[in-house]
Amino acid sequence: MQSKKHAEGQVVQAFGNLLHVRFEGNIRQGEMARVKVGTESLLAEVIEIAGNEAKLQVFEDTRGIKLHTPVEFHGNLLEAELGPGLLTSIFDGLQNPLEEVAHATGVYLQRGVYMPPLDRKKNWDFVPTAKAGDLLKRGDSIGYVMEERFKHHIMVPFSHFGKVKLTHVAKGGAYTIETVIATGEDEKGNLIEFRMLQRWPVKNALIEGKKVRPTRMMDTGMRILDTQFPVLKGGTFCSPGPFGAGKTVMQHHLSKYSDVDIVVIVACGERAGEVVEVLRTFPQLIDPHTNESLMKRTVMICNTSSMPVAAREASIYMGAAIAEYYRQMGLDVLLLADSTSRWAQAMREMSGRLEEIPGEEAFPAYLSSRISAFYERAGVVQLGEDSTGSLTIGGSVSPAGGNFEEPVTQASLAIVGAFHGLSRARSDARRYPAIDPLISWTKYLSEVGQELNARLPHWAERVRQSSSLLRKGDEIGKRMEVVGEEGVALEDMIVYLKSELYEFCYLQQNAFDKEDTYCPLDRQVELFRLILKIFDGHFLFDTHDEARGFFLNLQNEIKNMNFLPMGSQRYKEAWDDVEKKLSSRMKG
Ligand code: ADP
Ligand code: MG
Repeated sequence: MQSKKHAEGQVVQAFGNLLHVRFEGNIRQGEMARVKVGTESLLAEVIEIAGNEAKLQVFEDTRGIKLHTPVEFHGNLLEAELGPGLLTSIFDGLQNPLEEVAHATGVYLQRGVYMPPLDRKKNWDFVPTAKAGDLLKRGDSIGYVMEERFKHHIMVPFSHFGKVKLTHVAKGGAYTIETVIATGEDEKGNLIEFRMLQRWPVKNALIEGKKVRPTRMMDTGMRILDTQFPVLKGGTFCSPGPFGAGKTVMQHHLSKYSDVDIVVIVACGERAGEVVEVLRTFPQLIDPHTNESLMKRTVMICNTSSMPVAAREASIYMGAAIAEYYRQMGLDVLLLADSTSRWAQAMREMSGRLEEIPGEEAFPAYLSSRISAFYERAGVVQLGEDSTGSLTIGGSVSPAGGNFEEPVTQASLAIVGAFHGLSRARSDARRYPAIDPLISWTKYLSEVGQELNARLPHWAERVRQSSSLLRKGDEIGKRMEVVGEEGVALEDMIVYLKSELYEFCYLQQNAFDKEDTYCPLDRQVELFRLILKIFDGHFLFDTHDEARGFFLNLQNEIKNMNFLPMGSQRYKEAWDDVEKKLSSRMKG
């Protein structure tokens, strides 16, 4: 956001963070402006233009803005800086590096302090892969630097359209992100300079290459997700749930364990201090796949409490642009937004101030198209003949009172490929993760089945059977509440006990137990096979009591196995015990 002022104006009216500004010059929708309050310079965005008056939303606390406060327009849109150094960073929605800002201003972040997102002085070891004479287009790699364990490709800027012929590429060596590392000539013969640093307007999708269908599963180590409601790399999912149901815990789990390369976390906290908590704890986490700091594969975008709601919107788009940029390098990226409801509320507030015609629950009519456009930035992009990059997007939704009929949940459900609905009843019963298997769904099961059939035949079909068993069990359970255990047939009660066992030993998972928190796919397949054996089994019991006693005992034994390291002596012994117990009771 360094460009020079090209137009100016002054405030004629202020309403919350909405300003009416009279201006001279030629400005455009979406461009950034700076509102000059004393020595402070507050970032704002043009959202509406009529004649020589524009409406601006300010991204900062608007204290001190008065009639005639000067405003400068800079011509550029809200942009992300893209280049090496993004990983491990913690930004706010305008891509201010929060740690650096905190250093400069003290613990209490000051408004109007903007710092370059990426380090200008740091040297990166550039390895050229293209050479003079090569004909490239946007997104093509000129070379790379190692950023943590990833090859960070230095790509022809995405803002450059048309072919470019390289005229010079720097020798391998250490350069800063602002050094010219290559030059070229466009189709009109203009000289173009390439640096490691490039910029992109965050509200536009950054993509070069064809989108192809997602096919590979994103393994998360959460049984209820991977087995029952899986997500594909390049797919989308949303997890709505009432306050305290476990949305944030789940997103943390995903950011920690998902088998992707890069994770971009957009945190719009709901509780005061929640974001601070994330900032404090996350950098200490260790990546279970590499044993290194998790931050080495992470970019965090956090809304600080000192910023008004408009910044939430910026955060969502900032996160998306950074995630897409890494996808273009052929990496698997996961973008998590917690919670998208905070963003929707920002839209509602601004729409109200603009006096737009309100839609349902006073959300603007364009709410669902904005939400769709956000999730549509996910996908798998074909980059070369056998190279792809993927961006998976997952958002949490926090509807008031946990009512899923509200507009944000409904708009999300209309677009995502998997729905993980958290329920208050389950979290109150401490059945974690509180994803309700009776209301949740996924569109990706068949593709995942293709991948897992080799390990367990008819995978998708077997998962569907387990869903229907859960449904039957739930029905019988409800009947039993009315007529008592003895009031249902023994076979029915056994169906109920099987569904409870599945629920208790498989779908539930303790996020705070060392072993249970992450259940690798191999282990899931092994345990699911055991569960299927129980589902298929014909059991011999004389009484309801006997059946109940047997199943309670069995489920406790299996549950305890989840807390033992796979393959350990105790695990094997427990497994043998369970097998013995089963064969003593099963017919055939
Ligand atoms: P939300 O984001 O939906 O408001 P949180 O994710 O902050 O809710 O969860 C609230 C609390 O519920 C957590 O602090 C934790 O005590 C409990 N909890 C959530 N998920 C789990 C889980 N998988 N295992 C154990 N406890 C959980
Ligand atoms: Mg939360």
